[in-house]
Amino acid sequence: MKHKKILIVSIIGLCCLLGVYCPWPAGVRAALTAGLPSDLWNPGKNTLTTAYPFPRADQTTYQMDLYLDAINRIVYGQSQIKTINTSGRVLGELWLAIYPQAFQDPGSSPAPSAAYAQGFSSGGIQIKQVKVNGVPSEFITEDICMKVMLPSDMLPEEELTVDISWQAEVPRVAYRYGTADGVFMLGHFYPTLNAMSDSGWCRPLNSPFGDPFCLSAASYLVRINLPQDYRLITSGELIASLALDNGRENHLIKAELVRDFSLTACSRYEKLEQAEKNITLKCFLPPDMQAKGREIIKQAGQIVQYYNCLWGTYPYGELSVVVVPMQGFSGMEYAGVVYISEDQLDHPGVVTLLAHEIAHQWWYGLVGNDQYDEPWLDEGLAEYSATLYINHVQGQDQAQLSPGIAKRVNLDRALPDFVSDEQYRQVAYQGGEDFWLALEQELGRDKVQKILRSYLANYKHQLVTSQDLERVINQEAHRDMSAFFAAWSL
Ligand SMILES: [Zn+2]
Repeated sequence: MKHKKILIVSIIGLCCLLGVYCPWPAGVRAALTAGLPSDLWNPGKNTLTTAYPFPRADQTTYQMDLYLDAINRIVYGQSQIKTINTSGRVLGELWLAIYPQAFQDPGSSPAPSAAYAQGFSSGGIQIKQVKVNGVPSEFITEDICMKVMLPSDMLPEEELTVDISWQAEVPRVAYRYGTADGVFMLGHFYPTLNAMSDSGWCRPLNSPFGDPFCLSAASYLVRINLPQDYRLITSGELIASLALDNGRENHLIKAELVRDFSLTACSRYEKLEQAEKNITLKCFLPPDMQAKGREIIKQAGQIVQYYNCLWGTYPYGELSVVVVPMQGFSGMEYAGVVYISEDQLDHPGVVTLLAHEIAHQWWYGLVGNDQYDEPWLDEGLAEYSATLYINHVQGQDQAQLSPGIAKRVNLDRALPDFVSDEQYRQVAYQGGEDFWLALEQELGRDKVQKILRSYLANYKHQLVTSQDLERVINQEAHRDMSAFFAAWSL
């Protein structure tokens, strides 16, 4: 199938070069072969405000022009971020996350040493140039963040265009940012504008466990140049591909209102596809795992439909489950993409894992939170959601409260407050799930699901805090729930 596709794309590409026929509108054709347009779409505005006023999802776009040098493990990137200063204050600097910097040396890499099968391999990102509104700007890097000094103060409601030339080195490591067994796993690989809360910039630090991110949703238009024998899996939807005469291929991808943009490129994977009511499910995995892939995609379809009915419809056209040679995490969530580690496929808990990662499409993807500062918000809810699904398929109506619920834990903890991955999981995952199970005891399951529908409807594409959640719960419970929150130190 792959060769046939390449042949068709090559013929179309040749015809385009000859000026004979091109199946795409002029704008798409130009985006594939020349510059990316600046006005491909204009996201509508909404009026919601949260504790994170900047950057706003509906006013922020990323355009990225990427080139993967698979042999030397380098991604060359040219990013243009457009947004509006909605912070309500005068800005003198910008903070961006540059996650590849976490992989510079063995002492700071979050990947376990076992993930470096051939010994340590360094990764990082070089920022070549930053321009703000066309003016070259000074910048400094600090841990996994970068501070850009604005050439002049940015007034409220002023438009902001940030152009960044960069190149990211991809380490040889079986991790969520790295390459192993012919698979490039590129999560959080590009400079991302950090969110700003009422109290200032989110400036996460590298962490040996968990997710040090606080990401505002945005819309993306990405062109990526890949070797033709690589399969591409990304957030968003592929608009068009064009084979070039040098053995490479240009792909144009559009992703509207997504929490992040992830990219996976692999030379050996098979694709399984299943059409559901509102969505196309895809599963990518090594050819010898196809039988398991069919079970995974079937389960994924049931999970998505279950969550759709419970809270609200998954709003994107596609969801991809990718089986990756990843260590350190059993699964990982990105907008429209879920990673499952190869070594989890035979594990009896793989359906629970899949249900957890797919739940993040709602609780991370649609309703976001500061994963560094309040990791319990998305992890606890993903864990609780997976329990709901497992109880549903097992025919149990009522989830049992776990033994740990007798001692309510302090949920008000940021990543650096945990001494180990085990403690982080006990609190953010198990403690977070216990919060929701205890809320069921207090208000009943139907009320809790109503709360979650309201939470989604109110904060879709936003970033929330525990206080935002408390407001929704108070509203739906028709009473003051501060004593309940205080029992969890919130
Ligand atoms: Zn999770």
